[in-house]
Amino acid sequence: VTGPSTFLGLDVGGTYLKGARLSGSGALLARLHEPIRKESPQSLLGQLTEAVQKLECDGSAAGLGLGLPGIVDLRTGRLRNAPNVPVLNGVDLSRELESRTGRPAFLENDANAAALAEAWLGAGRGAETLLYVTLGTGVGGALVFQGRVWAGRGGFAGEIGHLQVDPAGLPCGCGSWGCVETIVGIAGWVRRAREASSRRRSALSLHPQLTPEVIVNEARAGDAVALEVVDGAAQALAVALAGTLNLVNVERVVIGGGVAQAGDFLLDRVVAETRRRTFAHVFEDATFRLAELGGDAGAMGAARVGMIGVQAA
Ligand SMILES: [Zn+2]
Repeated sequence: VTGPSTFLGLDVGGTYLKGARLSGSGALLARLHEPIRKESPQSLLGQLTEAVQKLECDGSAAGLGLGLPGIVDLRTGRLRNAPNVPVLNGVDLSRELESRTGRPAFLENDANAAALAEAWLGAGRGAETLLYVTLGTGVGGALVFQGRVWAGRGGFAGEIGHLQVDPAGLPCGCGSWGCVETIVGIAGWVRRAREASSRRRSALSLHPQLTPEVIVNEARAGDAVALEVVDGAAQALAVALAGTLNLVNVERVVIGGGVAQAGDFLLDRVVAETRRRTFAHVFEDATFRLAELGGDAGAMGAARVGMIGVQAA
């Protein structure tokens, strides 16, 4: 290969596999998006290997990164806590992929990968320190300092979704209770909207299927019950953000994930509630932005993980 190196990223989700090929300066050269084949470790490894071949049309890839829906245990390099792709639990994925593709492969938690992409090419550009929060089925988070994920000793750092914000709250999948995720995860929005609209008159009861998007739209249209649900979610997230900001004093907060597509209506409330709970100087140091890279953030960030891994090796 004579041209400059490129880097491949694969974002392994519960439903889809997304891929990206990036130049060394971050230009998006190719993308991939297909349903995931997770029937067995072999079917998924086969799909990942094929995806590398599809993305790497010219043999220029110097390395690849994978964003995974679980925690990558930094002690063992293996995936843990991955309820959405249980076939990968315990698989030595980087070694398997290296032997199948002939490229060095590096693993990262998917929220950490998306945070790296936003820090480099998206809403975190220009910031030395960043807190990333992703709002979806779960609530993920990541800390990026000087362009690198701060993953802590074992890889678990940044999990803002599992800060306890309601000591009287519901059990959480992590083993604790009353975590941000029990309120701000999609199931939390839907449960709270159902409860509130069963007690009081609300346009929410007209919807056969409730989603955060429906709830935010009804709140925006003036439904008092829907607004209460939005404000409850904003407040729960703000309690966690304020505590985190007071602890780490970062300069940028980026909020992404599907639920963040609710846009400024949600963000403005989160920011206002965070302000009330944060040291004034700490709040002023931080700017809050919605993520910019959308559904490509995970794959682009995974490519960045590959780039960082190759450069460090
Ligand atoms: Zn939890």
